[in-house]
Amino acid sequence: MKKASLIVLICVFAVTAALAGALITLNVLNEWRIDFEPVPEPMIVIEAGDEFSPPEISAFLRGRFFAKEGIPAEVTSEGEADSSRPGEYVLSWSAELSGRTNKTSSHVIVRDTTPPEIVLIPEEREYILPGTAYDDPGFSATDSIDGDITGRVKIEREDDGKFLTLYYSVTDLSGNEAHAERTVKYDDPFPPTLTLSGEVEIKFYAGRQTYEEPGYAADDNVSGDITDRVKVEGSVDSETPGVYTLTYSVEDDWGNRAEASRTVTVVEPPKPRKVTVQKDYPQGGPLPDKVIYLTFDDGPGPYTAELLDILAKHNVKATFFVCGTGYTDLIAREEAEGHSVGVHCYSHVYGPLYASEEAYFADLWAMNEIVKEKTGSYTSLLRFPGGSSNTVSRFNPGIMTRLAAAVTEAGFTYFDWNVSSLDAGGTTDTGEVFLNVTNGIAGKNVSIVLQHDTKGFSVAAVDDIIEWGLENGYVFLPLTPTSPTVHHNIAN
Ligand code: ZN
Repeated sequence: MKKASLIVLICVFAVTAALAGALITLNVLNEWRIDFEPVPEPMIVIEAGDEFSPPEISAFLRGRFFAKEGIPAEVTSEGEADSSRPGEYVLSWSAELSGRTNKTSSHVIVRDTTPPEIVLIPEEREYILPGTAYDDPGFSATDSIDGDITGRVKIEREDDGKFLTLYYSVTDLSGNEAHAERTVKYDDPFPPTLTLSGEVEIKFYAGRQTYEEPGYAADDNVSGDITDRVKVEGSVDSETPGVYTLTYSVEDDWGNRAEASRTVTVVEPPKPRKVTVQKDYPQGGPLPDKVIYLTFDDGPGPYTAELLDILAKHNVKATFFVCGTGYTDLIAREEAEGHSVGVHCYSHVYGPLYASEEAYFADLWAMNEIVKEKTGSYTSLLRFPGGSSNTVSRFNPGIMTRLAAAVTEAGFTYFDWNVSSLDAGGTTDTGEVFLNVTNGIAGKNVSIVLQHDTKGFSVAAVDDIIEWGLENGYVFLPLTPTSPTVHHNIAN
């Protein structure tokens, strides 16, 4: 080899080597890398339920000096985010070209910040009654992610007696809360009831009794027994005649009121006096041979009208010894239909009645006032409760002896009886009443028969008794002040 050729060869080699070295150096200095475009956000936050598409990421191989525009590289992505479910997801991308690789990733946070919703069914009532359990018209709770969460609703109550407030709350699985509340008013439109015991109209003689409140009761639909809230206004002076009004009122917690009143009439006590009005039945002539005086005590009562019909059917007159019953209007009819009306008593309670002469006369006159009111005149006919021979008055020794004289002195004629139907305890049988009466009459010229027109079974015997009497030649007459009296032996 020539020396020149060798030099050339060495030079070429040197140049080539230098070039190669430069190229290698350049390649190193070029700093090849893979870029992602766009660079994904390290963290992506989205609301659950929103639409989400993963970012489209491209990759390029680039250097400082060469391939500045970049050579597209294939990208592989991994992971996915479910935007309908709250959670944290990782999306990652990797690219590789010419031995260069790169990786990147994004954290996708799907969060739920949307609160659920509580819907209340409206309360249509304007108010609810106090003390009643509240009947919730209903509610529902829904959440965009959890769906129907009605079952998780918690209710707290606040009740101050005037308003009831319900606080509804619910929390979804992500901790978002919803609240709702409703307030309903309590109201009570119903007044309490106020009931008076005893009579609403009370009458008694001044000085003979002391007024005692018979009592009352108040009941409320909400508060129950509110008797202790009843206010009583007015008072009674039992010594001074007059008309006294007692007013009772009560108010419930809701301002509903109830009222009642009672009238107490304190009557001037009757003064001893004589009866002057008399009626003489029938014609004043001599008595027939066989006379029956039918007499009925203790009425008028529920069977008196029927009895009057029976008597009218036979045109038979009888005698009624009347009491202060609830049927005293019938006294007018008894009188109008030609029967005799006598006083039996106002109140058939032996204890007070025979407590004193004063008490007896107060009662007698109380009844005689009613007789006058119904018939237009006082009666002078009388029958003692229990008869003049009664022994029920023995707690007051001698009272019957004194009364028998006193009533006669006062102008009354009192009658006992000589035929008893035994309808006051001996029997309750209509057939036996008939037999007791007809057996009692048989053999007597004058019979004063005792029956009670307050007893239906006894009244039912009257039709047969009259027919029997008429068939057997008896005359039925009403008692008059000059009739045979038939007096028992006084036993007290
Ligand atoms: Zn009687």
